[in-house]
Amino acid sequence: MLVMKFGGTSVESAAAIERVAGIVKGRLARRPVVVVSAMGKTTNKLLAIANAAIAGQRDEYIRQIHDLRDFHSREARLVVPLEHRAELDRVLDDHFQELTELVKGIAVIGELTPRSIDAISSYGERLSSYVVTLAFNHYGLPAVHLDSRKVIVTDKRHTQAAPLFEQTYKKLEAVIPAMAAEKVVVMGGFIGATEDGVTSTLGRGGSDFTASIVGAGIGAEAIEIWTDVDGMLTADPTILPGGHRVKSISFAEAAELAYFGAKVLHPATVIPAVERNIPVLILNSRRPEVPGTTIVANPVPCRNAVKSIACKRNITLVNIQSSRMFMAHGFLRRIFEVFDRFETSVDMIATSEVSVSLTIDNPARMAEVTAALSEFAEVSTETDQAIVCLVGENIRNTPGVAASVFQALRNVNVRMISQGASLLNLGVVVAGKDVRTAVEALHTEFFQDPDPEVFD
Ligand code: ADP
Ligand code: ASP
Ligand code: MG
Repeated sequence: MLVMKFGGTSVESAAAIERVAGIVKGRLARRPVVVVSAMGKTTNKLLAIANAAIAGQRDEYIRQIHDLRDFHSREARLVVPLEHRAELDRVLDDHFQELTELVKGIAVIGELTPRSIDAISSYGERLSSYVVTLAFNHYGLPAVHLDSRKVIVTDKRHTQAAPLFEQTYKKLEAVIPAMAAEKVVVMGGFIGATEDGVTSTLGRGGSDFTASIVGAGIGAEAIEIWTDVDGMLTADPTILPGGHRVKSISFAEAAELAYFGAKVLHPATVIPAVERNIPVLILNSRRPEVPGTTIVANPVPCRNAVKSIACKRNITLVNIQSSRMFMAHGFLRRIFEVFDRFETSVDMIATSEVSVSLTIDNPARMAEVTAALSEFAEVSTETDQAIVCLVGENIRNTPGVAASVFQALRNVNVRMISQGASLLNLGVVVAGKDVRTAVEALHTEFFQDPDPEVFD
């Protein structure tokens, strides 16, 4: 069996869904299980609807719900055969009626809880999975819909839920192989349900994670992530267009890149894949002939130090200083206890004897963190910073990487530098305005002579 995940742009329109059907058809013999994201920007639109509801903008959210229905109806009608139109209309009626009631309820209460955010944002994948199932039948692909909430069991941390692997794997194993023997199984990514059956989501971009959970659960031969770029590139194309495609990369490198901002892959995606040693491929649904990126345990050896450069913007840099704590033990413990208490995770850290600098990417509880830290240290924060992170297994055994980084960044103010304990990343913190300059300079420095075995 094979898991094929198609992201939002890959199912954004009738034409895109037709392309997807063609790609899946080409792999029918491998018994594909298809995981789909919400169509286009549907998740963002659902969240906008929720926000309009709590702001009491009734006309606005009603209009937005209508627009979303029109969009789904228009695109779906082009790919759903006449004999299934009644079924399509029923699916759309049921879902949009339910959604409207839910949104009205939230408007009355005037409060948006993580649980109700999940309930609303789940509609994107719930709809797209039905539309794609019906469309596949139109294109001669016998398909069957599976409600992901029946098989993906998560904890209760709504909007960021973690799968309960044991139960989930058991359900996937029990349900999918039998269904996939006859037809192409189509399910929504991103969504699941708690043990009590309450709808949950795995966090933004979570459909990639769904694909790898499913892949591991059914022991798939591969997990294919179909998206809108040719694969993992040597730099974020929205920051630096024209980077090289990385043909082969390790699980550890891919995980690090995803964690440090390469949106093409959800950071948790590789976890289930590594565990069962299943290759993950990143492929372009607009250019299916391109071989993409293969993520495996032992990739093709590479003679370059760096595989790719990732960026994470909107980072907050926190500087904590205490001369009273000079040489005192327990300083770090006290600091981390504060971050732990306010559930704020730290990405990068550098210390000197009396000060600690660290970065966080979610400042939601920064005011509380600052107040608690101020009881024993001086704290200053700087927003709009960015982490630029070089990733490559060879960084650890290539002499002079740090020297090359400083040489390349000689005109950029580097706020912090850190080489991760994994030794496969080297990160610098720069001001948000310097990101493009920094990435460009580092890319020029490290990809002067890309190894043709690894880079395209
Ligand atoms: P999907 O909807 O298919 O999940 P995403 O938008 O989540 O697609 O991820 C694909 C996007 O990731 C690309 O369009 C690209 O802008 C961005 N991206 C960031 N860093 C990288 C990188 N190193 N390589 C490829 N794409 C990247
Ligand atoms: N639709 C969800 C999102 O936009 C999940 C995904 O696309 O992976 O975040
Ligand atoms: Mg994505």
